[in-house]
Amino acid sequence: MSAVDELLAFDQQHLWHPYSSIGCNEPTYPVQSAHGVRIELADGRQLIDGMASWWCAIHGYNHPALNRAIETQLEQMSHVMFGGLTHEPAVNLGKRLLEITPAALQAIFYADSGSVAVEVALKMAVQYQQTNGKPGCSRMLTVRGGYHGDTSGAMAVSDPENGMHGLFSGMLAKHIYAPRPVCRFDDDWDENDLNAMEDLIERHQREVAAIIVEPIVQGAGGFWFYHPQYLRELRSLCDQYGVLLIFDEIATGFGRTGEMFAMRHAGVVPDILCIGKAMTGGMMTLAAVMTTRRVAETVNASAAGVLMHGPTFMANPLACAAASASIDLLLQSNWQDKVRKIESTLRTELEPARTRPAVVDVRVLGAIGVIEMIQPVDRAALCAAFVAQGVWIRPYDRYIYIMPPYVIEDDDLRKLCQAMLSCLV
Ligand code: PMP
Repeated sequence: MSAVDELLAFDQQHLWHPYSSIGCNEPTYPVQSAHGVRIELADGRQLIDGMASWWCAIHGYNHPALNRAIETQLEQMSHVMFGGLTHEPAVNLGKRLLEITPAALQAIFYADSGSVAVEVALKMAVQYQQTNGKPGCSRMLTVRGGYHGDTSGAMAVSDPENGMHGLFSGMLAKHIYAPRPVCRFDDDWDENDLNAMEDLIERHQREVAAIIVEPIVQGAGGFWFYHPQYLRELRSLCDQYGVLLIFDEIATGFGRTGEMFAMRHAGVVPDILCIGKAMTGGMMTLAAVMTTRRVAETVNASAAGVLMHGPTFMANPLACAAASASIDLLLQSNWQDKVRKIESTLRTELEPARTRPAVVDVRVLGAIGVIEMIQPVDRAALCAAFVAQGVWIRPYDRYIYIMPPYVIEDDDLRKLCQAMLSCLV
């Protein structure tokens, strides 16, 4: 048995992959290395990366500046606990985050993944309401079609039908779900889009701690791009009813939608912001929750007197160093031009998909291109066909989508788009 066959056999028998079963027949492709926008398989085949490893690897793989940042930090320390100790990587990253986010967001909690950031945001909102006139109030209001992660709190605020509520209903909090916004990103605004949300917040104002949404782009819940005015209206509803506004920018942050953060399309500042994924440029896991002084101080005044969360690997110095280097790289690059160029190529190249009978819709925003199909796709078959064409695209449910690294060249991007079109009937 070759070393690669042995690796695959062990993997198949013992390792779970995301949303998979042990011993399942869906093939997994062994990766040897990754450089720039190329993933190299163990057999030497090179794949053009269309996924940026689930929105993260915005600068491509194996970037020397990011590698160097981690190596340099490694020589100092890879980790120390953040309880009672602090360090330069955490502070340096904090300074950068304050520079690129709205001025009102002044307090930062480092979390170890996007899902954990969402848990922290929800707890922050509940603790805030303990001293803000709604003690015991712990319900969240959200829109359908959302996805906020796989931990219990995050699952509970994700879409109640296409999420995991059915499977875990007994353990999930019962929140309140408004319909998904209908008005598209570039449609004319229709004020009726807000009717149901207005009605729900009025009815549940005494029990709702916060509204949580992914601003502008709903990601894994259906790749839906909605109108910026919806966020402005949410902001004023929250202010009117004393409800906090949480934006989950874990997927959209760091330039993906053409703005540094998607909320900038609307000019709206939330009370609590969750960021993650691309924060370290895909080097390692790190997320952050940011909030205002007012929220932080109100949490201090809550029953516990402190924010009740503290992960073991909080503010991991290697991850913080990678994140600072990734943000510097982003700010030094002409990322906005690159994302604009990607958007324009995606629009041109994916447009012909619109007329194919199996296709419902084609959507493009920033460096995100989505073909929505009528039926769920045969993912394993499609992935195999894509690999045979030298591209890495992993469809999900009814969505064949790409969100490539920003450094992708136009030729490579066209190849990705052509591969997407080639699989349509
Ligand atoms: N929120 C959003 C909007 C996401 O897209 C994701 C991950 N896809 C998460 C939260 C959860 O992040 P993580 O996988 O790092 O826990």
